[in-house]
Order: sequence, then structure tokens, then C-alpha cells
Amino acid sequence: MSIKTVGVIGAGTMGNGIAQTCAVAGIDVVMVDISDAAVQKGLATIGGSLDRLIKKEKLTEAQKAAALSHIKTSTSYDDLKAAQLVIEAATENYELKLKILKQVDALVAPEVIIASNTSSISITKLAAATGRADKFIGMHFFNPVPMMALVEIIRGLQTSDATHDTVQALAKELGKSPITVKNAPGFVVNRILVPMINEAFFVLADGLATAEDIDAGMKLGCNQPIGPLALADMIGLDVCLAVTEVYLSEFGDSKYRPCPLLKEMVAAGRLGRKTGRGVYIY
Ligand code: NAD
Repeated sequence: MSIKTVGVIGAGTMGNGIAQTCAVAGIDVVMVDISDAAVQKGLATIGGSLDRLIKKEKLTEAQKAAALSHIKTSTSYDDLKAAQLVIEAATENYELKLKILKQVDALVAPEVIIASNTSSISITKLAAATGRADKFIGMHFFNPVPMMALVEIIRGLQTSDATHDTVQALAKELGKSPITVKNAPGFVVNRILVPMINEAFFVLADGLATAEDIDAGMKLGCNQPIGPLALADMIGLDVCLAVTEVYLSEFGDSKYRPCPLLKEMVAAGRLGRKTGRGVYIY
């Protein structure tokens, strides 16, 4: 199936990035969130991101205008009916995603593919909550979406080859380099990445080094472009904590216990860049 219109649920960090990426590739997008303020904030973020690309001479004013003309925003799920693929990128919460996916499943045509951008929730489990497990798949973009080349395509137990192939082709059309992964907590990249970030919080909490030195160590010693604590601020500390908690409950292995310092920072509302303060102040 060829995808002409993509529905994106959630206009937050990931949702607006996915919408921008689709629009720049010339695909129509309907970006839906719960409030007008949320969709406007998402749209403003896209505008700012496109402006930065213009400054770097990677985009022209005309291309920006063309991209924006592909984006429609809405607070009504009814507008998702225009899409051949709906990508759910709402808050990382199992009950919330179930509610959203059941609603979308009941609304869109039977041939529509539904994808989730979840970082940690089982694709097989989410698929089973819909009446179209064969047309359900994980499409895991990375942050910031317009810059990051990877998309993990996660096959649930019942995902069909046709669904996989359609989504893989779309990811390539978006200029991404997809990898195909079997469903398991954290898939491949976050299974390795998030425990490393959690360990960086333990190292910080143990007072072994300053945040700056921990990040410098991992950058200079492991050739990472950004240190794990700065990366946590970028991802959102709440997202990091939620993912770690899923590993702990799914694998039942105490090696995944979240660092108490990470929990404290989330409890304090220090969620990273999006709140102006996480490990660092922005
Ligand atoms: P975010 O908090 O920035 O945005 C979530 C958005 O979802 C908000 O705008 C919120 O208003 C909206 N929302 C909540 N309930 C909704 C509903 N019922 N209908 C429509 N919209 C609703 O979160 P995010 O970082 O963009 O994460 C979104 C998803 O992407 C999560 O599943 C997360 O695990 C995943 N993810 C995040 C990252 C990252 O680095 N932040 C990377 C990969 C995947």
C-alpha cells in the first residue's frame, strides 16, 4: 500500500518531529493532540526547526512553506480518517495508549496500518488490543526525529510481512535507515542505552564525578557524541524513568532498578530540556 497521508497522535517532542519529517518528504500529515495549545506548540516547534535548517542552508524558504502546507493540525481524532498510516506518539503510558489505540482502531478503515512510537511497551500487547494485530507495528523514531537516521521497525508476533514492508518502504522514503527488530522490552537500542543512562545517574549519585566529568568521560573515552546525562535531559528524565520501570517489571531482574536520584529529579519536575532543568539548567 502506498502511504499518502500519515496521522500522528501527539504533537510533543516526537510527534512534531515525525510530522515535520513526513511533511518535508512531501507526505500529508494530520497531527492530533488533546488541546489547541498542544498542537500550536508542536507546530511552532516545527517552524523553529525548519528555520534552523534554513540557517544551515539545508532548506530553502520555499521548501519550508511547502512542508508546512502538508501539515494539518487537529484536536479531533475524526481527522485521522484521511490517513493510510496512523503513528501513535502520545505520552508513554500503557493505559493511555490502550485507550487511544482502541479509539483509533474503531475509527479508521480496516486496511489502515497503526504504528506506535513507544519506547518500551510491548508491540505484541498493544497490537492485541486492536482488531488488526497483523496491521499493527512499532515505528520507533529517535530524538530529534528530523536529525536522527534510525527507525527501529518492531514486528509484533502477529505483524504481517505486508505491513512490515509498507512501513519499511515509508521509513526509507522519509530518508531514514530502518532496522528490523523483534518485539522485546526496549527493542535493541534502548535495551542497551537506557540502562547505561540509569547507571550514569548511579555514578552521579555516588559522587564519583561531576555531571560534566561523567559526560566528558563517556564522550572522550567511548566516542559518544553526547554524554549520558546530557542525553537524559534531551530524552526527558520522565521517559527514562518510565522505560527503566518497564524493564524492571518485564524482565524481573533487579539490575534494571531505577536510580533513586533519577526518581527524585522526576518527582521534583526536573524533566530535562523540556522543563528548563534536568541534570543541567537550560
Ligand atoms: P511528550 O510528552 O513530549 O509528548 C506527548 C504528547 O502526547 C503531548 O503533547 C500530549 O499532550 C499528547 N497526548 C497525551 N494524551 C493524548 C491523547 N489522548 N491524544 C493525543 N495526544 C495526547 O512525549 P514524547 O517524548 O514526544 O514521547 C511520545 C512517545 O514517543 C512516547 O511513547 C515515548 O516513549 C516515545 N519516544 C520518545 C523519545 C524521546 O526521546 N522523547 C524517543 C523515542 C520514542
